Amino acid sequence: MSDVYAQPTTGTEPAATCELARYTTLRLGGPAGRVVAGTDADEIVRAVREAGERDEPVLVLAGGSNVVIGDAGFPGTVVLVRSRGLQVVDEDAATVTVRVEAGEPWDDLVAATVANGWSGLECLSGIPGSTGATPIQNVGAYGQEVAETITGVRVHDRVDGTVGRIAAADCGFAYRSSIFKYSDRWVVLSVDFRLARSPLSGPVRYAELARALGVEVGDRVPLADARATVLRLRAGKGMVLDAADPDTRSVGSFFTNPVLDRAAYELLRERAADLGEPPSWPCPGDMVKISAAWLIDKAGFGKGHPGPEGTAISGKHTLALTNRGGTASTAALVELAREIRDGVHRRFGVTLHPEPVLVNCTI
Ligand SMILES: Cc1cc2nc3c(=O)[nH]c(=O)nc-3n(C[C@H](O)[C@H](O)[C@H](O)COP(=O)(O)OP(=O)(O)OC[C@H]3O[C@@H](n4cnc5c(N)ncnc54)[C@H](O)[C@@H]3O)c2cc1C
Repeated sequence: MSDVYAQPTTGTEPAATCELARYTTLRLGGPAGRVVAGTDADEIVRAVREAGERDEPVLVLAGGSNVVIGDAGFPGTVVLVRSRGLQVVDEDAATVTVRVEAGEPWDDLVAATVANGWSGLECLSGIPGSTGATPIQNVGAYGQEVAETITGVRVHDRVDGTVGRIAAADCGFAYRSSIFKYSDRWVVLSVDFRLARSPLSGPVRYAELARALGVEVGDRVPLADARATVLRLRAGKGMVLDAADPDTRSVGSFFTNPVLDRAAYELLRERAADLGEPPSWPCPGDMVKISAAWLIDKAGFGKGHPGPEGTAISGKHTLALTNRGGTASTAALVELAREIRDGVHRRFGVTLHPEPVLVNCTI
């Protein structure tokens, strides 16, 4: 399988080459004390343990597609997750369970499942990064999320030093969240997915995807059609990495879609009365999820809106904040994020929260 990460590496990097911008899809981030690559689970655990024994802070980094690292970098050891491999660990007539090493590039895995006739990940095509990072924020897109197919996660627990398994029910999966997000307690070593043996996708849940496929919501389509259509839709929004396209030099969505209770939602509708109905999706517990992209756009921050020092909103999607090159810095990107968050709050009274993990920086 191909290595799709920003800058692959093996072994330990000398300090002089430890600029973390090399390892992030934003191409931003200052220097690390040390960068060590783990090419299998044992190496990853050893690198994390050894840094812990030296009392150094540890940052586990894989594809670097969901982190914003400050210009001052990271004053400790960065452990790059570069393990590879997948194996079938259980199967019956209807399902197959695959165990995937954390460093396996996510989209290579999705492509392999589609080619094998294993259904359940096809709508998650084209998402950058590693398989081991998918449980961290319960990666999702186009009506699917990994919580639906993950059965368990093998982890190194940095608190008690053990390696063990956490069942999916104990992972605390929620919208773009889990027990792993904002915690450095666990290092994910491998992930188990139970997938259906089927040439067809799960029921298509996302209206835009159904339209693009020419089917009704709830219909199933051939796996390869689902994958190809998702890739096409994503590419049109700058959501598939492309070195030649600065609109993809981002972390994908910078903000999560706000989830409001009924009273806050009605307040938003009043404040947005002149703009029509805000796009929304019902959530459990009488909550309502709102489109962050719509809020940003209607607050006056359109596609291409420039930020300071070579940063800008993507020309293809209002939710992606991009590094256009030149003098861009994390400080500038964060300033743009603040401007947007504050502008949306002023206009609609809704607070946007960042989706990526912020390392040594804050908005
Ligand atoms: C163009 C683009 C489009 C995107 N589209 C989507 C989308 O549609 N849906 C979506 O959910 N996300 C999306 N993302 C965000 C991102 O791709 C995913 O969150 C992805 O899973 C991050 O993987 P990574 O390997 O790059 O993680 P990294 O950025 O390397 O790490 C992210 C966080 O996870 C931690 N981490 C990583 N690996 C491990 C591990 N093995 N053990 C413990 N902690 C770990 C890191 O410490 C960090 O806190 C997009 C990003 C980009 C750039």
